[in-house]
Amino acid sequence: MSATLIDGKAAAARLRLQVAEAITARCASGKPAAGLAVIQVGHDPASSVYVASKRRACEEVGITSFAYDLDANCPQDELLALIDKLNLDSRIHGILVQLPLPAHIDGNAVIERIAVTKDVDGFHPYNLGRLAQRRPLLRPCTPRGVMTLLENYQIPLAGMDAVVIGQSNIVGRPMLLELMQAGCTVTLCHSRSRDLTTKIAAADLLVAAIGQPAFIRGESLKAGAVVIDVGINRLPDGKLCGDVDFATAVQRAGWITPVPGGVGPMTVATLMQNTLQAATFTDSK
Ligand code: NAD
Repeated sequence: MSATLIDGKAAAARLRLQVAEAITARCASGKPAAGLAVIQVGHDPASSVYVASKRRACEEVGITSFAYDLDANCPQDELLALIDKLNLDSRIHGILVQLPLPAHIDGNAVIERIAVTKDVDGFHPYNLGRLAQRRPLLRPCTPRGVMTLLENYQIPLAGMDAVVIGQSNIVGRPMLLELMQAGCTVTLCHSRSRDLTTKIAAADLLVAAIGQPAFIRGESLKAGAVVIDVGINRLPDGKLCGDVDFATAVQRAGWITPVPGGVGPMTVATLMQNTLQAATFTDSK
């Protein structure tokens, strides 16, 4: 048996096109396009790659991107003052602060400073709380992107036993909430979970967000399972690899996302979708 590939690259291209069309329609009707402020503190090379790809995506879909590149030593108060200013700037509908931040800055304080209606990463406690209460407003990009992929492939989620491995605030926890909202019975596993093997073997749907290359092998999966690999790991030879051992998993799964080309492209496309959504909040004012 060979699993159906879930093509995140194609799904992301479709989503970006939908956003681009919606932006064009907004402009044609006299509304402002949409503006995204992308703040980077310091010059972490991985962060610079992500920031560049977000700015490129903005350009492609017609969202105006505003770049704020701050020195690595920038005092926290200066960053908070910038966010205060952007919160009030009507040209800007979304504010993104690239994580991780330097150690002297309190990331929680920064996230909580962003106006909830401009929190396009969906990391503000208000937005996570709305998701927990089944009244989502702005949803974290990676889990929302996973849900879009599952919808694209019309995978019937209601009633499924889902296992999420990894409990970070940006992936695992909001993923749990998204899958609960979709009617799954969800088990959230982490580094202290006992007997992962039994839990994985029982999963109709498995989401891996661990950060360890090829951690999950095909033999451990339930036959026909839906396998969503969020992991992005750089191997010594420079190649990218997921948390799932693709070569063995593709033989046993029913559906599977590759790495690269699975969840990764959906994250940036969903950021564009969230920025468009945030722009619509100001339309009725
Ligand atoms: P994180 O380091 O914050 O969290 C990792 C989680 O894995 C933790 O909750 C930890 O408890 C769990 N874990 C670690 N070892 C484990 C083990 N042996 N057994 C069970 N659980 C274990 O990571 P994160 O930010 O959530 O990212 C996870 C992975 O997803 C990374 O590879 C990251 O690069 C990738 N990622 C991809 C995207 C995307 O767009 N595709 C977005 C964000 C993160």
